[in-house]
Amino acid sequence: MNVKSNFHTHTTYCDGKNTPEEMIKSAIEKGFTHLGFSGHAYTSFDLSWCMSKEKTKEYKNEILRLKDKYKNEISIYLGLEMDYYSEENLADYDYIIGSVHYVEKNGVYYPVDESEEILLNAVNDAWNGDIYAFIDDYYSLVKNLPKRFDFDIVGHIDLVTKFNESGNLFDENCDKYKNSAYCAIDELLSYHKSFEVNTGAIIRGYRTKPYPSDMLLTRIKEGNGRVIISADAHSVDGLDFAFDKAQEIIDSLKIKQIKVL
Ligand SMILES: [Zn+2]
Ligand SMILES: [Zn+2]
Repeated sequence: MNVKSNFHTHTTYCDGKNTPEEMIKSAIEKGFTHLGFSGHAYTSFDLSWCMSKEKTKEYKNEILRLKDKYKNEISIYLGLEMDYYSEENLADYDYIIGSVHYVEKNGVYYPVDESEEILLNAVNDAWNGDIYAFIDDYYSLVKNLPKRFDFDIVGHIDLVTKFNESGNLFDENCDKYKNSAYCAIDELLSYHKSFEVNTGAIIRGYRTKPYPSDMLLTRIKEGNGRVIISADAHSVDGLDFAFDKAQEIIDSLKIKQIKVL
């Protein structure tokens, strides 16, 4: 069987634009064999983008209903994207993506990927303008994800580079940056986690290449890690957006790749 899969999918239950059923119909049209839903898990301090506790129950029921309804056409998985600070009982899920979207400092939760301005203000207000200190705190959380909860896939590991593709905010080749990032990768490799090659920021115009950078992918490869292509889709258009580009990078670096969980 020719496998076509995506395990990083958002819907109207969190911050996506389409319903789960619309996503499934579109995935079938696009030739997908496997589709996993990964709604943003409840985080108490910011409900603007994640599922409330009530919505989470509805989400579970709806995905399970659709899993059965479409079982002859596509394999559907009930997953969840857990933030480092999310709270949720994970027993009912087929798989979990572990991601960091906020860094907490002095009781304030600073979003990593909201906008360049918000990021720079956070660094100035809470990290004395030292962006590498902020980055190190970010990667410390990534590194500690396995201690927070059990999960399968590391989500967009270098999300902190979202607004830095041209190197305007910091130098991804400097030792400070590398040390922080490699430390997290090495720890996650010791837990045998799989890493996403995530194309989500491309369709939204923030980047031209997927997460993570070639440099971090090389580190993953050297540590015998595995990657999985994912869309981080927030709409039907995103379902397989830039998958060819992601595949090209994986092929050129010759990294171990998985397509199903
Ligand atoms: Zn995410
Ligand atoms: Zn996501």
